Amino acid sequence: MTVYLIHFQTNLKHARHYVGFAEQVTRRLAHHKDGTGARILAACNALGIEYDIARTWDGEGRGFERKLKNCKNAARYCPVCKQGHAREYKPKER
Ligand SMILES: [Zn+2]
Repeated sequence: MTVYLIHFQTNLKHARHYVGFAEQVTRRLAHHKDGTGARILAACNALGIEYDIARTWDGEGRGFERKLKNCKNAARYCPVCKQGHAREYKPKER
C-alpha cells in the first residue's frame, strides 16, 4: 500500500489536503479526477479546484493514513506548502 497526500491549489472551505491510501496511486488519482473517488475531491472537480499528489509514502497503509488524518496539520507534511510555492504550483501532466 501507498499513502498519498493530495494538495489542493485553492482551499475548499478550510480544507487544503486529502490523505488516502491505495495499491496503485495513479489509478486512484484517475478515479478522483473522474469524480468516482473521494467525495471531497469530487467537490473539488465540481468547483474547478485543481489538485495533485504532493507526496507519497510507499509501504504505508491505513494506520499511517489515520495518523495523518488525525493530525490536523497535514501542511506540515506537504512539500508544496512547505516550499511556500502553493500559488505557482502547477500539477504535472499525467
Ligand atoms: Zn499542501
